[in-house]
Amino acid sequence: MELLRVENLSKSYGKGEAKVDALKNINLSIKKGEFIAIVGPSGSGKSTLLHLLGGVDKPTSGNVFINDINIYDLKEKDLAIFRRRNIGLIYQFYNLIPVLTVKENILLPAELDNREIDKEYLEDLLKTLDLKERENHLPSELSGGQQQRTSIGRALINRPSIVLADEPTGNLDSKNSKEIVELLKVSVKKYNQTLIMITHDTNIALQADRVITIEDGIIKSDEVI
Ligand code: ADP
Ligand code: ADP
Repeated sequence: MELLRVENLSKSYGKGEAKVDALKNINLSIKKGEFIAIVGPSGSGKSTLLHLLGGVDKPTSGNVFINDINIYDLKEKDLAIFRRRNIGLIYQFYNLIPVLTVKENILLPAELDNREIDKEYLEDLLKTLDLKERENHLPSELSGGQQQRTSIGRALINRPSIVLADEPTGNLDSKNSKEIVELLKVSVKKYNQTLIMITHDTNIALQADRVITIEDGIIKSDEVI
């Protein structure tokens, strides 16, 4: 079943001499439950694409449909709500709030959404992420891997249908990287989510169902593996 559709998507930054065409007429269809790796050289447009898929930025032209909703047709306020409910974002840097505990950091997006907390789901998430013993710790008391697992919890708390990850293992050693990717794979399968991940790591890319290579703002290849 198609979950996400991209039509003739382009994005340029700047004007005149300084204009950069970061994405050029991208077309893409992504199914529910797919794990997609996005690879390509630095500056090729990967982060720009991920941001546009997540409703974080605005395209210069073209459309992004999620569940047949044209997300950039939504009003700013509605898009913000849509994003919080449907999209989970994970970055290389964890951006945790230092004065909040693991559990409080994870619960933050649910609170922003005035959402009733499903205690059972929270407990399940803490266990899946192996954070149960750390739930009352502050970020400064955690390892890099634990901090990243907390940021994954924060991305998953609202049960998004799409999880977007921009180099989620970029700051971790190979052991922790492997763990994080395993965990992401397990949780997206468990909660039936679509995972789209930018990575420089070939070993990680090969674990995906599909690898999309971006070069100079276009899709150079799109392969099911
Ligand atoms: P990647 O994620 O593959 O490294 P990006 O999507 O970050 O690529 O960037 C694609 C191109 O767009 C690069 O040339 C980058 O310098 C440029 N770019 C990205 N974001 C901005 C921005 N906010 N303002 C101006 N140029 C940008
Ligand atoms: P990545 O590590 O994924 O390649 P970048 O370091 O290229 O990411 O970009 C990080 C952030 O900086 C992104 O939000 C992007 O939009 C912004 N950015 C990238 N290139 C530029 C640029 N030339 N000018 C302004 N902002 C940029």
